[in-house]
Amino acid sequence: MKTIIEPFRIKSVEPIRSTTRAERQQLLAGVGYNLFHLKSDDVLIDLLTDSGTSAMSAEQWAAMMRGDESYAGSPSFDRFEAAVKDLMNFKHIIPTHQGRAAEAILFSILGGDGKTIPNNTHFDTTRGNIETTGAKAVDLLCAQGLTPSDLSPFKGNMDLNKLQAFMEENADKVPCVMITVTNNAGGGQPVSLANIKGAAKIARDFGKPFIIDGCRFAENAWFIKMREKGQGERSIPDIVRDMFADADGMTMSAKKDAIVNIGGWLALNDDTLAEKARMRLIMTEGFPTYGGLAGRDLEAIAQGLKEVVNEDYLRYRVRTNEYIVERLDKAGIPVVKPAGGHAVFIDARAWLTHIPPLQYPGQAVACALYEIGGIRACEIGTVMFGRQPDGTEIPAQLDLVRLAMPRRVYTQAHADYIVEVCEEIAKTSSELSGYKIVDEPPALRHFTAKFEVLGV
Ligand SMILES: *Cc1c(COP(=O)(O)O)cnc(C)c1O
Repeated sequence: MKTIIEPFRIKSVEPIRSTTRAERQQLLAGVGYNLFHLKSDDVLIDLLTDSGTSAMSAEQWAAMMRGDESYAGSPSFDRFEAAVKDLMNFKHIIPTHQGRAAEAILFSILGGDGKTIPNNTHFDTTRGNIETTGAKAVDLLCAQGLTPSDLSPFKGNMDLNKLQAFMEENADKVPCVMITVTNNAGGGQPVSLANIKGAAKIARDFGKPFIIDGCRFAENAWFIKMREKGQGERSIPDIVRDMFADADGMTMSAKKDAIVNIGGWLALNDDTLAEKARMRLIMTEGFPTYGGLAGRDLEAIAQGLKEVVNEDYLRYRVRTNEYIVERLDKAGIPVVKPAGGHAVFIDARAWLTHIPPLQYPGQAVACALYEIGGIRACEIGTVMFGRQPDGTEIPAQLDLVRLAMPRRVYTQAHADYIVEVCEEIAKTSSELSGYKIVDEPPALRHFTAKFEVLGV
């Protein structure tokens, strides 16, 4: 059969509500054109993020009832720890309430003034958590990853030559080397197994811990299986174990590839580092066997990790995005190709060539998606990354709009509707206006900034 179906049936449904275009225009103005401030009841299809928006399975809900809420020594922790170690065999698994808590703990130890931390592309919370300690977050993505139309299979790869040169120059300032799989901020593009191992080797040559931001490890493993020479016959768990085999630790948002609504962890091999992390954890998250989560959350993660490496699931998951990308591409709408693992990325800078980067073409596309179709997407561009620590502003490397797919939530008909809304915008895209920011905080401004439409 050529149709790749959703590999599940639906037991519990959540109605979604239509609004009129006039209502949406008013709602947009009311929130200062910041889509994070819309009420989700006013959103028809919510593609703001794939984080924590997954549909849990019957088995996960059943597992939640087994959750043991003992303060210490809960068997739910043991099941969580065993499920993580089965895929990522680190010595210390430290639960946190989400990924950024793991980052905050790690960089409270490794960060600090004068330090600098390379990555393929730092995600916004990673960058934020590094920069608040006074350290620098440096992106060393391969050149292909910066070209949205480039068809290379592993556009999330680290530029290993740049990493080598960077380490030769800065080794004394580098507390760890990171790599993010898949590369969320760079279009959800995968990193090859060879590249992970290459980056790990450079880190090891300089005696630095190698830390994987593993939020979308399963999607990345699927791409390795599909695209990397010699990997096609391996099982997904086998590839995942290999991805993490050379790492010294990981940060994880379980809200992504553990298919749960909250949770995360920090994993480390080094005893001293882990001891410091647990001290910090007790201060900010909780006791080391629950780390800011309920026992039932740990159970849901343990079960989710078993489901996310299922090949039927991953085939359907990745195909949804490919399908939307193929259709948008046919309609002449610039998209990041090939499709990413968790999202479709529209290249707003290439689409709205009449709007300069500092007038936020990505914001213009995101607002149009909502106004025309009730779809909520997320700008990943100059709004998110343009503000520098010193308060100045420069264009981000790319101005993308991310249509992030919640896991197991929407169906084929929803995908068709998303394409149709984009086609509708394309009819008058040259008339869309740019935006200016009229109010912003000093960091992570995309969450709270207020905008005005230019020229109206
Ligand atoms: C979501 C995400 C994080 C942060 O995780 P939260 O659970 O949202 O705090 C870090 N890195 C990447 C790549 C992510 O996608």
